[in-house]
Amino acid sequence: MTVSQNISDEIDRLRIPLTEFLQRLVQFPSLPGEEQAAQHFLAEKLRALGCKVEILKSEFADVEHHPAFSDDGVSFDERLNVVGTWTGSAASSAIAQVETQTEGKGRSLILNGHMDVVPIGNPSLWKFPPWSGTVQDGKLHGRGACDMKAGLAAAIFAVEALRNLHFKPLGTVLIESVIGEESGGVGTLTTLVGGIHADAAIIMEPTRLRSCPVHAGSLSFRIKITGRAIHASMKRFGVSAVEKFQQIFEAIQILDRDRHLHYENRIFEFDDNIAPISIGTVAAGDWLSTVPETLVAEGRFGVFPGESIPNARAALAGCLAQVSAVDSWLQTHPPSLEWIEGQFEPGQTSFAEPIVSALGNAHAQVMGDQPKIQGVPYGSDLRLFTEHGKFPAVLYGPGDVAFAHTVEEHVELAEVFACARVLALLITDWCGGQFAPH
Ligand SMILES: [Zn+2]
Repeated sequence: MTVSQNISDEIDRLRIPLTEFLQRLVQFPSLPGEEQAAQHFLAEKLRALGCKVEILKSEFADVEHHPAFSDDGVSFDERLNVVGTWTGSAASSAIAQVETQTEGKGRSLILNGHMDVVPIGNPSLWKFPPWSGTVQDGKLHGRGACDMKAGLAAAIFAVEALRNLHFKPLGTVLIESVIGEESGGVGTLTTLVGGIHADAAIIMEPTRLRSCPVHAGSLSFRIKITGRAIHASMKRFGVSAVEKFQQIFEAIQILDRDRHLHYENRIFEFDDNIAPISIGTVAAGDWLSTVPETLVAEGRFGVFPGESIPNARAALAGCLAQVSAVDSWLQTHPPSLEWIEGQFEPGQTSFAEPIVSALGNAHAQVMGDQPKIQGVPYGSDLRLFTEHGKFPAVLYGPGDVAFAHTVEEHVELAEVFACARVLALLITDWCGGQFAPH
């Protein structure tokens, strides 16, 4: 029997407990700031597996000065991250470490997932109750099912399968269940500030088991436009902030198209949807029969992989300046531009990194083919590992991000089991080690 076959059989045996564990995770409404119960439940599971478990609290004072910190406004009262460590034998023996690292084995690996989920929206729109974890036709439904409790469950059961098979890793395996990912990544940042590093990380975001070493960034902005109010019947003597915004809005649409045209895309699924610019809110005027004096628009500005934040900001500022330069009102009343709240840089791991090929090989052994390598347009904690932790990371997990944050959120259980197999196999290859006779 091959290692891959043994792992596959063991995951098969664990299908029901894995499904029940995931269901239980989904039943915790772990909204931002309310992840504690779910985190304690997960910590208990890791302890039962024999991992060393640390509850790592995110503290404002530890992260406030970090360049990647953005305050999401969630209270720092009890923001608990869980780190489970399965210590490799190389970590306890200096000789083993030297020997194994020359062979490229004995490397440590972080399996990272976030416990926080986004709000459910209108509950009556859900076919299955959002906190039920209902299983039907091979799918598990509910908020957090794919984004990303399924990934966490897959990682934990990859470890459980290997433990059942009496595997002893050379390199250390760390399972991180973090908070605050959806609102900027304070949980993963806490682990990095706390000095938790590894030779590579896998983040089990819902990538449909594609290997995603690159993601775009995003910057939140606010534009304020000033017009001149007047009774609507005297409109020609006033200046409508809405009409001025229309010019700016059109220019932003053109900027979005142009930026995508000039980006040489090799790995993103859609050429015109890599780092989109989108206006999310618009508020103007205070009376229906008054020409509106002010307009405030807020949106997100996509940052291309490899593009710096100052560059991206300059592109939007330049666009506003261009519109203003040819409009007599805007020349003297230029729109103001502010960068507010989340400012997330892009992140990337080189395709040449050994973790990318190791993951590809593990995937190929389970699925028969190399995974598709793809960039994703959304931000993630990957950037924290690659840009600040300075070690490679790849997004790889079950589920489709197209259902994340929707009332149809679900995950295919077959994909969760496949992910667990791939992660277990990856641990044996990346971390090295052996199956002890029992
Ligand atoms: Zn996610």
